[in-house]
Amino acid sequence: MSNDTTSTPKNFIRQIIDEDLKAGKNSGLVATRFPPEPNGYLHIGHAKSICLNFGIAVDYAGTCNLRFDDTNPHKENLEFVESIQNDVRWLGFSWEDRLFYASNYFERLYDYAVELIQKGNAYVCDQSAEEMREYRGTLKEAGKDSPYRSRSVEENLDLFKRMRAGEFKDGEKVLRARIDMASPNMNMRDPTLYRIRHGVIHHQTGSEWCLYPMYDYTHPISDALEGITHSLCTLEFADHRPLYDWVLDNISIDCHPQQIEFSRLNLQYTVMSKRKLTQLVEEGHVEGWDDPRMPTIAGLRRRGFTPAAIRDFCDRIGVTKADNSIEMGVLENCIREDLDTSAPRAMAVLHPLKVVIENYPEQGEEWLDAPNHPKDEGMGNRKLPFCREVYIDREDFMEVAPNKHFKRLVAGGEVRLRNSYVIKCEEVIKRPDGEIVELRCSYDADTLGKNPEGRKVKGVIHWVSARHSVKAEVRLYDRLFIHPNPDGDKEVASFTEHLNPDSLRTLTHCYLEQSLGEVGEGSRYQFEREGYFCFDPKSSTAEGPVFNRVVTLRDSWAKIEQQG
Ligand code: ATP
Ligand code: MG
Repeated sequence: MSNDTTSTPKNFIRQIIDEDLKAGKNSGLVATRFPPEPNGYLHIGHAKSICLNFGIAVDYAGTCNLRFDDTNPHKENLEFVESIQNDVRWLGFSWEDRLFYASNYFERLYDYAVELIQKGNAYVCDQSAEEMREYRGTLKEAGKDSPYRSRSVEENLDLFKRMRAGEFKDGEKVLRARIDMASPNMNMRDPTLYRIRHGVIHHQTGSEWCLYPMYDYTHPISDALEGITHSLCTLEFADHRPLYDWVLDNISIDCHPQQIEFSRLNLQYTVMSKRKLTQLVEEGHVEGWDDPRMPTIAGLRRRGFTPAAIRDFCDRIGVTKADNSIEMGVLENCIREDLDTSAPRAMAVLHPLKVVIENYPEQGEEWLDAPNHPKDEGMGNRKLPFCREVYIDREDFMEVAPNKHFKRLVAGGEVRLRNSYVIKCEEVIKRPDGEIVELRCSYDADTLGKNPEGRKVKGVIHWVSARHSVKAEVRLYDRLFIHPNPDGDKEVASFTEHLNPDSLRTLTHCYLEQSLGEVGEGSRYQFEREGYFCFDPKSSTAEGPVFNRVVTLRDSWAKIEQQG
């Protein structure tokens, strides 16, 4: 148990659990659940809830169930069911044998509804959606009782049975709780418990049911049936808590979980609601749910994030009741710090410029030693092939240095090729239009691992051997939106107007060092001086590998924002 030894103060939910345990509540058990609706892929906001629920189970030697809240079959499907399981597992958590579906409980939920009717706590209502809205009243005004509110228990039981049997059309009747049409809490004004939905095939129950329970009715009962002790949800459910409690207080069930609300994660420069993410996918603004620019777990994985970095992020942002919006830089820093220690270094030239080393033998080749990590000898060394022709990055050469800070190669100047020799630029070859196409250089054979006699060469640039290199495509990702809160801007018709037109830059002619020719899924590297990159098996073809930029070496956005 880490709860005695952690240095960070415990979040308020853990404090509540500690007190419950001290008071001997729930027989000393801690049981949580993560309850996604399978109507989309999980996003980084869900990761916060996953880390919270599963993290508590781990730290308190309790349990955390995975439960699909599948009461709205219209928008749900098996692809989502599978992706969610995959993502929770990938984040490093296990529900063991406790995978549940709210639809597992449809029969029992039905029986509890019959009990509510028998006790006079629920009734069948024939009002149209519009009438119901009208009768509901407003925050300032009490609602009015539905004319069907006084139906007899017998009539209600009969109608409810016939609703299940399929005798009525969609929307013709609903089952409502009989609570209080004058309640200051709108959720308590006789909320709908069941609605009719014909013609949908539920991914678990097929066409067995045409009657579907509402979330607010299903959730407390599912929690209680599973023996959940602490039902953690986001703040917008605080107003639903009285209904959560009402349902459990009015049926014969001997478990009453405690609902506790926390604030949802909002992240700048992206959107988080599944409806908006679905829109991005369906309108083709991104390649799919796993597009590396998406804030989905699948997208972050494909981008090159590690589960550890996401867990670390969830740790750092904490759990409170205060609404907040986290800077993207916080998430980026987590993966940057992780990869700084865990990712081997490699060389990749993203904007190649050919360099011919004229005094190096035509067929010559040698294999130089290069450390895989500058600070971690345990990561070993690799062999780098060197030969007469190499590529360097176009940005590492200028005919004339623009200022005294330019320590790279200039015409007539010297520079060190990283882990290799010092070269000197003897001649610049240009096309008729002035574009530089090649450099002619010489190398100093006496400079391997040491400075040349009598002169210091300050600049070090990366390179790859032309003959041995691997041609690759590299995708440079940037934030998906140019507005910190694309969702919240009321001035535009759609949040999509804030999409960043430069969120993906594809470089099709890159050269990677030879050792990157055969890498597997999840291979991540620091391309020296360029950033952190991850192999993308899904995009790679027989023509060559594709690498995604996970994150830049430094937080360039912070600088831009500071400059204003
Ligand atoms: P969205 O609003 O993105 O569509 P949702 O709340 O409808 O999300 P669910 O599948 O119902 O999505 O969510 C499963 C669990 O994850 C719920 O307990 C929910 O409170 C939690 N959750 C969803 N979004 C966030 C978020 N941004 N931050 C923290 N927890 C979240
Ligand atoms: Mg939801």
